[in-house]
Amino acid sequence: MWRYRELLPVRHPHRAVSLGETVTPLVSLPGVERDLGLRRLLVKDDGLLPTGSFKARGAAVGMSRFLELGGQELVLPTNGNAGAAWAAYGARAGVKVHVLIPRDAPLVTRQEAIAAGADVRVIDGLIGDAGKESARLAAENGWFDAATFKEPYRLEGKKTMGLEIAEQLGWRLPEVVVYPTGGGVGLLGMWKAWQELLQLGLLKSERLPRLVAAQSAGCAPVVAAFQAGAATTEPWPDARTVAFGINVPSPLAGGLMLRDLRESGGCAVSIPEDAIQAERTAAFRREGVHLCPEGACALAAVRALAGSGWLGDAGDVLVLNTGSGLKYPL
Ligand SMILES: *Cc1c(COP(=O)(O)O)cnc(C)c1O
Repeated sequence: MWRYRELLPVRHPHRAVSLGETVTPLVSLPGVERDLGLRRLLVKDDGLLPTGSFKARGAAVGMSRFLELGGQELVLPTNGNAGAAWAAYGARAGVKVHVLIPRDAPLVTRQEAIAAGADVRVIDGLIGDAGKESARLAAENGWFDAATFKEPYRLEGKKTMGLEIAEQLGWRLPEVVVYPTGGGVGLLGMWKAWQELLQLGLLKSERLPRLVAAQSAGCAPVVAAFQAGAATTEPWPDARTVAFGINVPSPLAGGLMLRDLRESGGCAVSIPEDAIQAERTAAFRREGVHLCPEGACALAAVRALAGSGWLGDAGDVLVLNTGSGLKYPL
């Protein structure tokens, strides 16, 4: 991802904190494509990044800037993968990382952060509760609070997802991009990336993708607000989903996500829990593609939108698989 260093805020890319963030592949899904009558369906598999999730993009840029700015110790709330990624990049950078993780987050991500040497504290509650504790500990101890959207550089790292998609498709963007949406860093990051490419005149067509936010029916604040025509999200009660990375009942950037979704001509779709599981199993058996639950939720959204006719005769449809299926044993 450092090939895009001119578009990243890191001042000294040669000293960036890096664990080998590869350009992740676009994998075809010919069987699902045929079933749904789509012209082309691609999965961008970010499960191949260090620490097995796309949180590595944000952690690589975030940790690099943290070091450049003289930081030494930070704390962040996480649904699992961000904690694992920041723990690993913290180990690499020699930065002390404190992680606050809900008890129900995938155990493998908690163990990963512990094994990488982070100070991991388990929270009885959801990501919002972890966020409050993070802010409290930051104020009390003078640690930096690296929570989603309290820190500006994770977004810049996730921007590289949008830059890669453009380059991989010959500087012509897909017609529809479906993203499993929690805090929305990837969604806003991709949109920012495409705006920048437009400004730079690097795109062959000025048509930007319709962005789709996929959420679980067990936690769908963005979908509810989108459908209600609201300007911000309302806290989602009793949030619960197997796709734990998108279990964010009260995203800080709700309003920004709604703005970008509407500006792109996109939409927001919620998927029942059993459909997420079914999609995951089916994609593995049919295509050999091992999605994480969040990625399966996004793929299920494509199925729902094909069924409703919303996709029309869209050309390229691209789904983000945000983590490795191996982190979530079937
Ligand atoms: C964090 C995460 C998401 C959601 O990312 P946001 O930037 O919070 O919207 C999706 N999938 C996985 C696997 C994640 O870890």
